[in-house]
Amino acid sequence: MTSEKTDQLLQTQWYRVSSRLKAELDESAFENWVKPIAARSIKGSEARISVPSRFMRDWVVANYLDRIRELWSAEDSGIQSVEVSVQPKLKAAAEAAPAPIEPEQPKAKATPTIVNGMDANGHISAPLDPRFTFSNFVVGKPNEFAYAAARRVAEAATVPFNPLFLYGGVGLGKTHLMHGIAWEILQRGPSRTVVYLSAEKFMYQFVRALREQNTVDFKEQFRSVDVLIIDDVQFIGGRDATQEEFFHTFNALVDQGRQIILSADKSPSDLEGVEERLKSRLNCGLVADIHATTYELRLAILESKAEQMQVSAPGKVLEFLAHKITSNVRELEGALNRVTAHAQLIGGEISLETTQEVLHDLLRANDRRVTIEEIQKRVAEHFNIRLSDMHSARRARSVARPRQVAMYLAKQLTSRSLPEIGRKFGGRDHTTVMHAVRKVDELRDHDTSFAEDVELLRRMLEG
Ligand code: ADP
Ligand code: MG
Repeated sequence: MTSEKTDQLLQTQWYRVSSRLKAELDESAFENWVKPIAARSIKGSEARISVPSRFMRDWVVANYLDRIRELWSAEDSGIQSVEVSVQPKLKAAAEAAPAPIEPEQPKAKATPTIVNGMDANGHISAPLDPRFTFSNFVVGKPNEFAYAAARRVAEAATVPFNPLFLYGGVGLGKTHLMHGIAWEILQRGPSRTVVYLSAEKFMYQFVRALREQNTVDFKEQFRSVDVLIIDDVQFIGGRDATQEEFFHTFNALVDQGRQIILSADKSPSDLEGVEERLKSRLNCGLVADIHATTYELRLAILESKAEQMQVSAPGKVLEFLAHKITSNVRELEGALNRVTAHAQLIGGEISLETTQEVLHDLLRANDRRVTIEEIQKRVAEHFNIRLSDMHSARRARSVARPRQVAMYLAKQLTSRSLPEIGRKFGGRDHTTVMHAVRKVDELRDHDTSFAEDVELLRRMLEG
């Protein structure tokens, strides 16, 4: 292996180890202690890392070293020990080089000399995450269209549509799909130039070029690009000079038949602060959105991740997580990582009880996402009563029963107290809520169709 290759392997392994740590630790602990660590080398069965100060070394050794070693051995069974040294950061290098936790982009012709944030070919590309491949992407109803479009772009011999514009909420897989496209294109044609960068980075580079009166060079960089991938373009909105430049770069590349792939959290038409002519240009190709996950997709993703991580989590636990963590895939992954890490540290099995214990904060945060107002609205719609009847004093069973169901669901799905719930239902007493909860529980036991109604509502609300 060449030393360049070894270094790439080292960086990739460290990236994976630190990603696992990131999922296990508080954000601040990760930022303070893990992010500053640099992977240095692998000598035999020893991995060597460094930190910028002695104090940090002591802290890392005392608190994180065992776990780092464990995770590292799991990545590479040849690694048995990890050594931490102190190496004060060289400022210039720290600025020019990619963030230490990211692996070098394994591109055939990439060279590690970085001048002004560019590689030797004059390209500015951020590294690709080795985990974000098509084969690691789980396809389901909410993302099948975006996935098919991504594959099409990656596999087509000529540009099928330009640009491909992917959009959807946070943590739903946009970046993953874009990296997947890049990997696939590079695998099919290693000599092709694929540039992936965030819109923020694009702007940053452009502003710097302006400052250094170097915009000609900036433009030059994109001339020989075959595929340009820009992530999170919602950040371009409002910055006129950058938008202008983006527009020109975009047009020039499209005219030359180069493929452009963009992502954003909104559709082109909904992007704020973006000029009309750019919007209409963005709408010219194929616009594919990724929808919120469904329970089925979440479960499939968890099953796939568990298999990848080689952890045996009972089906019940995965179902529970798929049910409870509905926000996005990133959080879902984080939850599985935490549960797994806990079991590994404690040396126990993963069970429903430990899962609930380890994730209590996360579960509560997800619970809070359903509001009492939403519950009232859904329940009123379901039983065909007016929303105002949720607050009214009417006692006819046709409205009182749905109201009780709504109270019951409010108790089950939110972290509100009984008095708080009572207040939201036209200022009722907490004993009324308590009574409603008991009543609904009792009815569920005796009336199966009622029980199904309640279950259906609960599932809809949990989304
Ligand atoms: P976004 O860019 O849309 O905010 P990411 O692409 O960063 O989201 O995805 C967040 C995390 O969820 C990543 O770790 C990614 O691998 C994972 N992920 C998202 N969707 C899927 C999927 N369908 N299959 C497997 N992993 C996924
Ligand atoms: Mg992203």
